[in-house]
Amino acid sequence: MTLTLHRGDITTDTEVDALVTAANSGLRGGGGVDGAIHRAAGPALLAECRRIGGCAVGDAVITGAGDLPVRHVIHTVGPVWSGGGHGEPALLASAHRRTVEVAAAHGCARIALPAISCGVYGYPVEQAAAIAVASTREAMVAHPEVVEARFWLFDERTYAAFSAVL
Ligand code: ADP
Repeated sequence: MTLTLHRGDITTDTEVDALVTAANSGLRGGGGVDGAIHRAAGPALLAECRRIGGCAVGDAVITGAGDLPVRHVIHTVGPVWSGGGHGEPALLASAHRRTVEVAAAHGCARIALPAISCGVYGYPVEQAAAIAVASTREAMVAHPEVVEARFWLFDERTYAAFSAVL
């Protein structure tokens, strides 16, 4: 398996089967990476999200990708950080595991992921990076049809945190 780090905007990755977005549980689109992916995908993505209706924290759902030049968007919902004693680590690990499971079930060999929960959801970046890398790797061992995960990190600090873990 291959895990790689990339600095910048995840929507510029045209070489994967699916882009992963850090969605909210209502799948309503929003700011941050989810806003960037919805803007690039166009209104068809939001329409598909409306039909699905929602996604639990720690779970993931898959749609088409609208105008994006990839096949799918995987929408996963990470936990909001509220001190760490509310199941956040298990939920963040679950979001990554479910993302890989959904990718495998839909024949996505290569996926691009953002730093889930590390923006407005406020997860401490160093802790999130450790969980993201470990849980993605573990899920790829269980689902070897997913051969590559590319982490797209938007700012230097997040990139450095993932780099230290890898
Ligand atoms: P969450 O609500 O799960 O915290 P955010 O979208 O607020 O999700 O932030 C998740 C991470 O995605 C943050 O590190 C943020 O800087 C980053 N991010 C924002 N826009 C993009 C983008 N276009 N490509 C990749 N990462 C992005």
